[in-house]
Amino acid sequence: MDINLIEKKLEKKFKELEDIALFNQQKVLDAFKKNKVSLANFNGTTGYGYSDVGRETLEKVFATVFKAEAGLVSPHISCGTTALTLTLFGLLRPNDLLLSIADEPYDTLTEVISGERNGSLKDFKIDYKCVPLKNGELDQTQIFKAVKKHKPKVIYLQRSRGYAWRNSILVEEMEPIFSECKKISPNSIIVVDNCYGEFTEKVEPTEVGADVCVGSLIKNPGAGIAPNGAYIVGKENLIDLIAGKLNSPSLKREVGSFEQGYRLFYQGLFLAPHVVKECLKGVMLATSIFSELGFEVLPNINRPLSDIVCSVKFNDRDKLIKFIQTIQFNSPVDSFVLALPWAMPGYTDEVIMASGSFVAGSSIELSADAPIRPPYIAYMQGGLTYEHIKIALTNVLNELNK
Ligand SMILES: *Cc1c(COP(=O)(O)O)cnc(C)c1O
Repeated sequence: MDINLIEKKLEKKFKELEDIALFNQQKVLDAFKKNKVSLANFNGTTGYGYSDVGRETLEKVFATVFKAEAGLVSPHISCGTTALTLTLFGLLRPNDLLLSIADEPYDTLTEVISGERNGSLKDFKIDYKCVPLKNGELDQTQIFKAVKKHKPKVIYLQRSRGYAWRNSILVEEMEPIFSECKKISPNSIIVVDNCYGEFTEKVEPTEVGADVCVGSLIKNPGAGIAPNGAYIVGKENLIDLIAGKLNSPSLKREVGSFEQGYRLFYQGLFLAPHVVKECLKGVMLATSIFSELGFEVLPNINRPLSDIVCSVKFNDRDKLIKFIQTIQFNSPVDSFVLALPWAMPGYTDEVIMASGSFVAGSSIELSADAPIRPPYIAYMQGGLTYEHIKIALTNVLNELNK
């Protein structure tokens, strides 16, 4: 198989990705200009961090990019899971209902929602229901039925695939569903788990009716530059409720210092549209290669992309492990490490992960992971440069052909 030939066939699709990246780069630049980002914003503060202009401006820039009223962006939010947990606990009260409309949420949220006596939503008498996908798509009929019947406090949608064999959900698919849900139940709050989705399309969920949008800075909007953290953007009154959970109901968004300063968060956001494009080109190359090899893959090459993940069904434990290990061997950091399955916190099955990244565990950098269970699906994502992804895939091809 000639990888260059496969690449050649993708030229037109790559051009479309460049068009999206150009649009999003303009959007991000405009947000920096509008909020007058300057060198002074990169400085850190200590202690309480009252009037921390670096933090405040960063939050405004994120809000502008996502066309939201307000933002909560902080290195003190450990990761995407923490941001989603804060969001749910900030918005839901005892006897409220959380309705997930795109099947079960990401693995690490199971214990958050329905854990027993561990401080879960269930512990706080918050109810949960879920509408499964139908043939891999949002099931409009059942969603509207459930919204009508329960008038949920929070309607929750996960954009990316997580560890499920399904496509990511396009923002254009969200729009009619969100507007109908709002008609049926105007007081419901729509929350989108936007992890892996940022900058893959020209429009973000907050532009089509999502009230709150949540994501990780260890993924797309951090571009492998932000050292940690997460963002939450949306309606101002809701962001304040969530900030009340992060800090305190009496402090909301008034506190939070970070002595190291904020330059890397700004720089990551600025680079994100470009880096996401590199990842999407990698997804297209990978899905083309693996489908030519005869494996079942997602996404389908003819569907627009809405996350940076590519899924490959190996149907074979050894091939799956070999694939993950080869990605690790082709990483700039820890290339000498042999990836092995382990019991990772927050996940049900053993998981194997390749992440030889500059920011530990970063998955906007080239990474691959898989729960060890049939049909042995690997999820590959990220890559700071397309060239790196191509080199790694070339070596994967060589390994699988041995
Ligand atoms: C990664 C991910 C999360 C959790 O984010 P972490 O930063 O790993 O905690 C949640 N939802 C989706 C869809 C994800 O891909």
